[in-house]
Amino acid sequence: MHSQNTPSQLFSFEFYPPKTEEGVANLQMVHNQLARLNPDFFSVTFGAGGSTRDKTFDTVVNIQANGISAAPHLSCVASTRKNIRDILKSYQEKNISKIVALRGDLPSGMMSAGEFRYANELVEFIRKETGDYFQIHVAAYPEVHPQAVNGNEDFKNFKRKVNAGANAAITQYFYNAEAYFYFIDACEKNGIDIPVVPGIMPITQYTQLFRFSEMCGADIPRWMRKRLESFGDDRQAIQAFGLDLVTELCQRLLDNGAPGLHFYTMNQAAPTLAIWENLKL
Ligand code: FAD
Repeated sequence: MHSQNTPSQLFSFEFYPPKTEEGVANLQMVHNQLARLNPDFFSVTFGAGGSTRDKTFDTVVNIQANGISAAPHLSCVASTRKNIRDILKSYQEKNISKIVALRGDLPSGMMSAGEFRYANELVEFIRKETGDYFQIHVAAYPEVHPQAVNGNEDFKNFKRKVNAGANAAITQYFYNAEAYFYFIDACEKNGIDIPVVPGIMPITQYTQLFRFSEMCGADIPRWMRKRLESFGDDRQAIQAFGLDLVTELCQRLLDNGAPGLHFYTMNQAAPTLAIWENLKL
């Protein structure tokens, strides 16, 4: 374990790399609004198979040039060691030292899984190639990864990433706080002492949220689903309900020892800002 490199302040905001000029301009505005909250870092997603490789790089370099650390996500599926080595080198050249190391999901139509099978192999490779240079964050699944054989095996696989040298973890989003607390208990029982930061998904609409949650294995509790459905197209009502619910979730997590929060912003400032203000952070 590399806990000497463990970060102390763990509020972070996630973006995806914009595809259009309008998207770039929007992200600049969103970034400026969220930068005022002085997060530990911004992270930028990476399309599995390298589809956003250059856009992720450009976005990260831009953010870091504006004064707050930026952490690129890096997924290893469908990659070669050479691809990954080149990417790591390009980040080192730009003094980017945080990274979110992932397996990713093989894009449909892409046949070869490449030279890495799982994220623990990527973490191992990063450590082998670059020593302690990178502060490595990995993904954690309190509600269990959708492809996992079972919860125990999934937890063992999480532990492999920690043993390979991860400094911190960010969870998939969830709305059941108990799943997170159970996961943290398991970490304590297994001697895992890296910070496991809850991933927070603000609620602004529900059709997309349901679809996405199905895919990534995040549970939307029945009562929540039924409430959300009852609002129909009333976006304001959905947002007000979502804001209360997610604020309470965050408050409960922080009150019970969560080491920070990682917001999936979806490149929007307002939903995250509203939660932040409610929490009086
Ligand atoms: P792994 O940790 O490798 O786990 C994947 C599956 O394999 C699990 O079921 C696990 O139990 C099993 N497994 C792991 N190791 C082993 C092993 N050694 N032997 C056998 N089985 C094993 N996706 C993107 O494409 N781009 C992004 O930018 C991105 N960012 C994300 C950020 C966060 C915080 C999170 C939580 C997810 C993100 N994802 C992203 C999604 C992620 O890529 C998917 O959830 C993917 O399916 C798993 O990636 P992983 O790194 O968790 O994989």
